[in-house]
Amino acid sequence: MFRPTTRPSATASSSLDVKLHKRQTVSSASSSGRYPYRLNFYDRPPSLDITLDEFETCAIDRLRILSHLEALSHRNLPPAQLSTAIATYTKQHLPLSANTARTANLDDERRRDEIGHWVLRLAFSRSPELRARFVRAETMLFRHRFETDDASERAAFLRHLALDWAVVGEDERSAYESQLRKCMPWARPEQFAAESWFKVSWTAVPDLVAKRRVFVKQGMAYVPQSMQISLVLQAFDTRLTRALEVTAKNLPRLDEDERLGPVIDHLAASFLAGVGAGEYAPTDSTAAVTAEMVDDVARKHFPPCMLNLYERLKRDHHLKHFGRLQLGLFLKGIGLPLEEAVVFWRRMYGSTMTDDKFNKEYRYNIRHSYGQEGRRANYPPKSCTQILTSNQPGTQDSHGCPFRHFSPENLQSFLLSTYPQLERGSPDMRDIMDSVKSSHYHVACTRVFEITHNVKRGEGLGNSESVSHPNKWTDRSRELEKEKLAILNGEDVKME
Ligand code: SF4
Repeated sequence: MFRPTTRPSATASSSLDVKLHKRQTVSSASSSGRYPYRLNFYDRPPSLDITLDEFETCAIDRLRILSHLEALSHRNLPPAQLSTAIATYTKQHLPLSANTARTANLDDERRRDEIGHWVLRLAFSRSPELRARFVRAETMLFRHRFETDDASERAAFLRHLALDWAVVGEDERSAYESQLRKCMPWARPEQFAAESWFKVSWTAVPDLVAKRRVFVKQGMAYVPQSMQISLVLQAFDTRLTRALEVTAKNLPRLDEDERLGPVIDHLAASFLAGVGAGEYAPTDSTAAVTAEMVDDVARKHFPPCMLNLYERLKRDHHLKHFGRLQLGLFLKGIGLPLEEAVVFWRRMYGSTMTDDKFNKEYRYNIRHSYGQEGRRANYPPKSCTQILTSNQPGTQDSHGCPFRHFSPENLQSFLLSTYPQLERGSPDMRDIMDSVKSSHYHVACTRVFEITHNVKRGEGLGNSESVSHPNKWTDRSRELEKEKLAILNGEDVKME
């Protein structure tokens, strides 16, 4: 249960007592009660009973969205494509409908939205870097929702916020007409005449002041209604930033709860790695692969991390433990059955190992990873987050993610020797290395996918999705090949 503290201070409004129930006892707020608006400044901590499962799933859903938004923001998409990409993704993973929606369960949507936001506040208040990234991503999400909200609902929401804006009266407006005109050089006379103006402290709109888009007089900025969004976003950003600082001070109390600590640590690590929880479900294109086929599939469809491992295995006839694990689970995910996996690994070790040693030391591990030995757990292939954040490779290891774990020089050499489409010093290569430099490894990987698969910039794995799982790269790559073949054969293809 999220239980707000009762003191009506700034501290209270930003801190939480968290209690979790084993079984769900949902409090059903109505859309006209707790959630009258689709938009939310998250000023009031929720007072809800929730299960530990809900605590985690709502946070993961939101984390996926924020990570995706962050990735999109680094991919320089045109505004229209960016907006469509956000709309598609949020509709799928965190729908939030307007009051006029007839079929949606508004309470449930808004409740999940609220829980996710507050759980992530706990996870991301720990360091200034996390706080800044969280505020940026949340503000981007709010902006998208604000811009796409129903106009009357948005106006009602703004009225309820009662932000500290003074309306500029007719006399004042006439007095400064020439200065105000210069703020809207593009506006036709009738547009300028129809515009209404607000007056706020210039510190509330630093972005507009920096771009000289507002008239400033005695510390007050004159903002046209059409730029209202800057005011709203600045207010959202400022309030959230302050609230996170307060939450950070209250965090030690939460560390005492051993059920929540690991969940929150994992959420923060995933966000720092730049990817949301990229769980993987095999698609139809995950047709069976035999040991014989692996070489061909690797050349055409393996992501950089797996191609690197595979090439090292071919060269050295050996991989260390974490390398075997990373590649082995990935191969299982692309459809290599257990018997074929045994054949594949036996072949790869070749004469460096006797049959006896292989059977004793390696066959068991392969069977184990397929859930046929030991605890019989069916281990899933590793996601990008897991590869980026756990079991950091040493100098002798070959597992990990090339974008994160190679030096810039080694990464460039690897990319140049692996992908003929990339050239040293080309704009694409610069793009990729810039993303790596700013720790957006999956953005770099997504760009490599686009270039090597002749996919339009920004399209990613389809619908602007970034790479978040090595097996998703392979599935999409195989799908694209299938589509290409179908087109060559004159079949009807349903393109995404
Ligand atoms: S971003 Fe993910 S898929 Fe790409 S190379 Fe790194 S771990 Fe592999």
